[in-house]
Amino acid sequence: MTVETLHFQAEVTKLLDIVVHALYSQKDVFLRELVSNASDACDRLRYAAITEPALTEGDADFKVRLIPDADAKLLTVADNGIGMNRDDLVENLGTIARSGTARFAEALAAQQASGDGKQALNLIGQFGVGFYAAFMVAGRVDVITRKAGEDQGWKWSSDGQGGFTVESFDSAPRGTRIVLHLRDDALDYLKGDTLARVVKTYSDHIDLPVVLEEGEETRTLNAASALWTRPKAEITPEQYTEFYHHVGHAFDDPWLTVHMHAEGAIEYTGLVFVPSDRPFDLFDPDRRQRLKLYVRRVFITDDCEGLVPSYLRFLKGVVDTPDLPLNVSREMLQDNPLVRKIGRGLVGKVLGEIGKQAEDKARYAEFWETFGAVLKEGIYEDFERRATILDLCRFRSSLRDGWISLSEYLEAMPEGQDAIYYLTGDSVDALKANPQIEGFTAKGVEVLLLTDTIDEFWTSMAPPYKDRRFASVALSGGDLAKIAAKADAPEAEDKPADDGPTAEADIHALALAMQEVFGPEVKAVKASERLTTSPVCLVSGDAGVSLHMERLLKAHNRTGAHADRILEINPKHPVIKALAARTGGDGFADAAWLLLDQARIVEGEPVADAAAFSRRLTAVMEKGLL
Ligand code: ADP
Ligand code: MG
Repeated sequence: MTVETLHFQAEVTKLLDIVVHALYSQKDVFLRELVSNASDACDRLRYAAITEPALTEGDADFKVRLIPDADAKLLTVADNGIGMNRDDLVENLGTIARSGTARFAEALAAQQASGDGKQALNLIGQFGVGFYAAFMVAGRVDVITRKAGEDQGWKWSSDGQGGFTVESFDSAPRGTRIVLHLRDDALDYLKGDTLARVVKTYSDHIDLPVVLEEGEETRTLNAASALWTRPKAEITPEQYTEFYHHVGHAFDDPWLTVHMHAEGAIEYTGLVFVPSDRPFDLFDPDRRQRLKLYVRRVFITDDCEGLVPSYLRFLKGVVDTPDLPLNVSREMLQDNPLVRKIGRGLVGKVLGEIGKQAEDKARYAEFWETFGAVLKEGIYEDFERRATILDLCRFRSSLRDGWISLSEYLEAMPEGQDAIYYLTGDSVDALKANPQIEGFTAKGVEVLLLTDTIDEFWTSMAPPYKDRRFASVALSGGDLAKIAAKADAPEAEDKPADDGPTAEADIHALALAMQEVFGPEVKAVKASERLTTSPVCLVSGDAGVSLHMERLLKAHNRTGAHADRILEINPKHPVIKALAARTGGDGFADAAWLLLDQARIVEGEPVADAAAFSRRLTAVMEKGLL
């Protein structure tokens, strides 16, 4: 018989190191992971056997068995599920074949460096690398397995130190036996009472019986009924949390638990969780939803497109319905009207429950800061629920601290304001300092400060909210004239002293002369109606993308999009007035360039010619200081 020796993928080795060291205090977790895998394996065979009954070989009495052997210091976790063949073993227990592995490894290394054990634990849970938890308690792990429908059995064995062996193994029963050679500090797991306690704590909700076999004696350790089928009143918060850990591959606590049952035209049960922590793959390009679909408690798929929309991909949990046929194929699930109906009901319920949490502002902020950026995708993807989602949204504002809702925004609007103003950018602090909002602030008009990438997209579709349109301040300086200043708006005390107006004609000539200096660097120079304290600001033209959007696209190497740049000048500012008085004169070009560069810096753009900027600034300082 040949024995193959293979190496773990590098990421697995790293992981093993963490599992064994960082999670040292959480040893119980190994059993939960192995029982969870055994239960998944049974679920998969049960599903496959619907179309191919012969696969069960007459044994469809699915269960998980725990068999301690005190003399040999062995604990076996056995199932009669789908099993694995050689290639499955090598792929599943030697590599991490999932998307995002590299990013996961990076994140893990970062956690390791910062010594944050809980975060490392959470990451590991999310990544679904549970099997390796076996090495927390075992110096050697043997996996003896035979895949349903195949004759050849296999044995995988490893001490968790970089490699493993695989060899054929005759007379293996169908399913998988995980044999743990327990370390001396883990012998407690040979005791029936310990196993009973751990199973009760972590695996009570497993649908199958988890049976302890001690000699002749056998006893079932869990309730062995799917948690979501039990009455709410009989389920403790701890049980919900443990179920969430199991179904969501998570270690955090759920932020929200929604357990619902719908009857009528369609019947279904949903047990759905909003996590507290952001899953590491939340922004993966596939944007896959994560709910598991069951039909009459038989697991069908965890990849049911269309069950809930992508903007709710952070939800974890299960949906179970008796209204789909058990032998429903994955193809049949695509574009399935029943699935869509269930999804619609579920989404309505979940959004409603999320909304109810908003009363507790601090608690709601936790959710919003974790998942708000994802939920906002729904504003332009889910036409039907746009208003509901906008109600759930929270924003930073130019006039208030903390998060505000749109209705809070509307309540505070001054007379004459008919739009919801916003500005997009990289950070709230930079936006607060952006001269583009000066005129709005002076009149007491609030501006929403948007810093998520997604904000560029939904705002460009400008869906109205309660009949108020969204308007970018970059394009709305002209609106200000129509709006009456609020009584409590900041008086113009820090406005530059007004020593008489500069004639409009002079400002016009100044703008033209500056434009001439800049050439193609800016599309236009024009007098501003929004500036109060700053001399200049840079805004985008009203066609095409915003300046922030252009920077975002550039950062992603998408260079095609170009925003027009318009330099607005403040006719009331002393610097602008002084410059207007000497348009085209000595030092005019240098002053013009300095103003443009200043506007660029404030907007978050690079200065085009840093050396020239520095030379000009030094010259000005010399004049001022000497
Ligand atoms: P996950 O359960 O999140 O996929 P694990 O590390 O727990 O990650 O398991 C890795 C893979 O190994 C599983 O996806 C499954 O394919 C396989 N596996 C583990 N345990 C069993 C088992 N008892 N029976 C069949 N396959 C198993
Ligand atoms: Mg697992």
